Amino acid sequence: MLTRVFSAAIQGVEAIQVEIEVNVGSGDPVIVLVGLPDAAVRESKDRVTTAIANSGFRWPRSRTTVNLAPADLKKEGPSFDLPIAVGMVAVAQGAEIPRLGRCLMAGELALNGEVRPIKGTLPIALEARRQHKKAVIVPKWNAREAAVVEGIEVYGVSNLRETFEFLAQQRELEAVKETLLFGANGADDFDFADVKGQHLVKRAIEVAVAGNHALLLIGPPGSGKSMLSKRIATIMPRMTIEEAIETTKIRSICGLLDPSNSFCVDRPFRAPHHTISDVGLIGGSTNPSPGEISLAHNGVLFLDELPEFKRSTLEVLRQPLEDGKVTVSRAAGTVTFPANVMLVAAMNPCACGYFGDPKRECRCSPKQVENYRNRISGPLLDRIDIHVEAPAVEYKELSSEERSEPSRAIRERIQRARKLQQERFLRNPKCRTNAQMSHSQIKSHCKLNTEGSELLQKAMEELHLSARAYDRVLKVARTIADLAGVPDIEPSHLLEAIQYRTLDRRLWQ
Ligand SMILES: [Zn+2]
Repeated sequence: MLTRVFSAAIQGVEAIQVEIEVNVGSGDPVIVLVGLPDAAVRESKDRVTTAIANSGFRWPRSRTTVNLAPADLKKEGPSFDLPIAVGMVAVAQGAEIPRLGRCLMAGELALNGEVRPIKGTLPIALEARRQHKKAVIVPKWNAREAAVVEGIEVYGVSNLRETFEFLAQQRELEAVKETLLFGANGADDFDFADVKGQHLVKRAIEVAVAGNHALLLIGPPGSGKSMLSKRIATIMPRMTIEEAIETTKIRSICGLLDPSNSFCVDRPFRAPHHTISDVGLIGGSTNPSPGEISLAHNGVLFLDELPEFKRSTLEVLRQPLEDGKVTVSRAAGTVTFPANVMLVAAMNPCACGYFGDPKRECRCSPKQVENYRNRISGPLLDRIDIHVEAPAVEYKELSSEERSEPSRAIRERIQRARKLQQERFLRNPKCRTNAQMSHSQIKSHCKLNTEGSELLQKAMEELHLSARAYDRVLKVARTIADLAGVPDIEPSHLLEAIQYRTLDRRLWQ
């Protein structure tokens, strides 16, 4: 007697259908699990048989083989408990279970037969639809997460008995519906309207977001660097449905969603502490899970106190920032997690924090200031287009009653600038924003007239700007021209872009 049940395994951020065959042969009552199960799946044998007994069902009392196919796909975690249990009850009953073949299911079992929450129900529901299943059965806690997928019925179950009776058409369940309130998230907790003063920094942030440029804020403690950074996601263009699904999938496989917050419509903001491990930041290879850079996918990765991060940690960021994804290699092949982020970093101007401050004296020697700044790896700094100084906020600015421009208004200008970039890069699917331009693209899209060329040349010499600054200035000037809605880069755009190269200037001349 053989029964077949459908489930799915998580690979990166995708789920792949797994067929679970349960076969009863003759011989002593042992359960043999085959098909590359990990320790958690092998342990499920005891949970499953106890849960079956406690649910008032029987399981086969002779040699039972459970095969998880395809065999070369690693099966991890406890989410196969439910389908394995269903298969064993079905095979013990020996009757046909009408709904079994049309459903895909996943869930962990407690010893009393209750179904516990699992990770990754959103990608599992997407895979069920791709496999043309009629329905997907998941733990009740995760049901709303799966229900954002249209074109498939989603059922949330609480225990094994309920699941089996539904499959056997002995009871009905109500399908879970989730309505997406898309684009209605006007009630952001943060808004640029709350930020007083800091006009130059806010302008630099607007330019950075408009061209998707990585940004470094340099300023003394209390200048509001993190307060400003927290608001950056609120002026980024609204996520598309595809982006929202990508971002939600990552949270889903990390088990970070709950019934009240089952779909991410807001761009993420992640601010890992500088003590974070490489694995925590980039993602891990044993039982691969996404790191902070992937949790920030389609949003902002904020690194506060940049020089305090280990140099090696910043080094491992380089490739993912370049590729927009993280590839983790492991025994059974490689797993890829998306990691398309806007990098925002912040640092004090020196170790004591007050270098260049007009009111407070810096206690660092020139050598100490230099050492502090050298802690940031050159290659990472190379990827940061805009450096800007955030001065301490003046008391009169803080106490002013004037309300600043709201995030919504800034976002509208940014969306117009992004639209120009979309049209510019229509034939280049790899390049979507000015920040991603290659050297040859810069040459064709950032042409300067004679006045502009001379100005940039002079600035390079007088301000001792490095050669690497040259392309960065052109890219940023392109974005400033886009924000102004003009086709050619003008000298004023160049001058503004040159201002955003604080760390390229020599400190002492
Ligand atoms: Zn200092």
